[in-house]
Amino acid sequence: NEIKTIPEEFKTSTKKPRFLLLAFTDINGSLKGMEIPIERYEEAVENGISFDGSSIPGFEGIEDSDLIFKADPDTYAELPWEGIGRVYGYIYKGDKPYHADPRGILKKALEELEKKGIKAYIGPEPEFYIFKKNGTWELHIPDNGGYFDLVALDKARDIRREIALYMPYLGLKPEVLHHEVGKAQHEIDFRYDEALRTADNIISFKHVVKAVAELHSYYATFMPKPLYGLPGNGMHLHISLWKDGENIFVGENGLSDTALYFIGGILKHAKALTALTNPTVNSYKRLVPGYEAPVYISWGYRNRSALIRVPAFKGSGARIEYRCPDPSANPYLAFAGILMAGLDGIKRKIEPDSYVETNVYEMDEVERERLGIETLPGSLGEALEELKKDKTVREALGRACRNFIDYKEREWEEYLEYLSLRDIPIDTKKVTEWELERYFYV
Ligand code: GLN
Ligand code: MG
Ligand code: MG
Ligand code: MG
Repeated sequence: NEIKTIPEEFKTSTKKPRFLLLAFTDINGSLKGMEIPIERYEEAVENGISFDGSSIPGFEGIEDSDLIFKADPDTYAELPWEGIGRVYGYIYKGDKPYHADPRGILKKALEELEKKGIKAYIGPEPEFYIFKKNGTWELHIPDNGGYFDLVALDKARDIRREIALYMPYLGLKPEVLHHEVGKAQHEIDFRYDEALRTADNIISFKHVVKAVAELHSYYATFMPKPLYGLPGNGMHLHISLWKDGENIFVGENGLSDTALYFIGGILKHAKALTALTNPTVNSYKRLVPGYEAPVYISWGYRNRSALIRVPAFKGSGARIEYRCPDPSANPYLAFAGILMAGLDGIKRKIEPDSYVETNVYEMDEVERERLGIETLPGSLGEALEELKKDKTVREALGRACRNFIDYKEREWEEYLEYLSLRDIPIDTKKVTEWELERYFYV
C-alpha cells in the first residue's frame, strides 16, 4: 500500500504537521481556508481566528466583514498528501454565529430535528470525471471505458485506489469504487454517517479526489455535466431518520408512515429544493432524459427513473434515495433544505402522490398528467423563482437565503449575458465554455 507520489518528507506518519488548515465553505460549497502554524490550534478552538470575509462568495461586502473562525476539534484530520493538519469549524461575527456560514446553517436545521429526538443519516454516491487538460477547454478523455469496465478501459484505476487509500486519514470509510457509465467517469461511495459528518465528508472527499488527481497531472471535476452527450455527475443521497437508536423509516411491511410523509414533504418542495441540490447553471444540463438523471417529480420502489427511489432493504436498512442532487451542491445547504422539507411532510402528514412503477421517461405527457407527475425546474433561473415561492425551504437557510438568491441570480444573469453576446439560444442543452470556465474546479 505504499503510495509513491508523496515525497518522503511529506508523509505525516513520519513528521508532525507544522501547519493547520482552517477550512470552511463559501455559499457555493467551495472549499476555502487559511493556514496557521500548528501552535495556534488551541487558540483557534478557544477564541477563534479572525479573518476578512469580504471576498468570500455569498458572505458580506467590504463594509462589514470581520469574521471569526472557531475550529471544531471533532473534525481534525491530517492531509497525508500535504503533511498538514486540517479542521472545519463554525464562523462567528462578534460573539454570534454568522448567519451565512453554511455549516452553521446545517447545525441549526439538525437542532430542529433533535427537538423531536430525531437524527438524520445520509450516505452519498458522488460521481466525477478524471481528465487530462492542456490549458484549453478541449478536455482529453484518458479512457473509453463505461460502467464497471477494467484494465485498458479503466486508465485512472490507480488514482481511484490511491484516493481510497487516503480517505481513512480524513475519517472517510470507502465502500465501493468503480468506473462509471461515462468515459473517464468514476464513483467512490463511502459509508453513511450522521448528516453534519457526511456533509463534512463530502467536502473532504472532493478535496482528496482533486488533490490526488493533480498529483498525477490529471484533473478531477465534479461539475454536473462536463461534456454534452456523456452522462452527468450525480450525487444520489441515501437518507434515513433515527430515533432512540432505531430507524424510524422501518414500517411493519416496508416503509413507515413517517418515511412516506418524509417523501411527501420532499416531493412537495422538490422544485424549490433543486435551487440547493442543483445550484449551478450546469446542473440543469444534467437533468435531461437519457442519462439516468431525474427529470420528473415522482417516487417509486426500486424504480431508477423516479426522483425518489426506495431501494430494496432488509431489517434496519430502510432509506430513500434522492436522485437529483449533484456534487456542485453545497452539502450543508442542500441537507438543511432537504431535511426541513421532509420534516414539513412529517409535521403536516403529506401523502406522497405521483407514485410510479414503470419507466417515467417512456410515458407521454398525457399519462404523466393523469398521474400528477410534474417536471423539475429546467434552469437555474426557474429553480430560483421556485425557491422564492417556498417558505419552508427559504426558512431552512434563514437570513442566508437572501445571500444565496442574490449570489445565484447574478450567476444566472452573467450566463444569460454570455449567451446573448454569442447568439446562443437560451434553452441550449450544450455545455458552454462559460460553464467550464466557471465550474470545472467545483
Ligand atoms: N450519472 C447518473 C446521474 O447523473 C447516475 C448513474 C447511476 O449511478 N446509476 O445521476
Ligand atoms: Mg452508485
Ligand atoms: Mg453512479
Ligand atoms: Mg444510486
